[in-house]
Amino acid sequence: MEDFDDQTMDARLGEVLRPGMKFSHEYDFGSTTHLTLRVIAQEQRQIKGKDVRILARNDPPSFTCTSCGKPATQVCAECIYSDEGCLCDTCAAGHECGEEMLLPLVNSPRAGVCGYTGD
Ligand SMILES: [Zn+2]
Ligand SMILES: [Zn+2]
Repeated sequence: MEDFDDQTMDARLGEVLRPGMKFSHEYDFGSTTHLTLRVIAQEQRQIKGKDVRILARNDPPSFTCTSCGKPATQVCAECIYSDEGCLCDTCAAGHECGEEMLLPLVNSPRAGVCGYTGD
């Protein structure tokens, strides 16, 4: 994190974003995930305390097992790069890459990249 080319990290989202704006975000913890985002609305709220609050969340996308078509629950961190590797519990158990390559399929663009488990 040495390279702040566009904005410093001190800028607050509410000061730089407006409804209708499209922007990109690079999430980088060793391997970069590029996100393209759009601001759909703005809302004023009174915030008490300093805790981080989740104001909105997407509906989790549903993925089907690339082997058998049942709902997928896990993703193979190796096979995801060839657009495969979404697996149901049954197929995950016998997956060729091994159990250590499997990550839980969570509601995150980083599913299959990092160890986030959804909690
Ligand atoms: Zn399956
Ligand atoms: Zn695999």
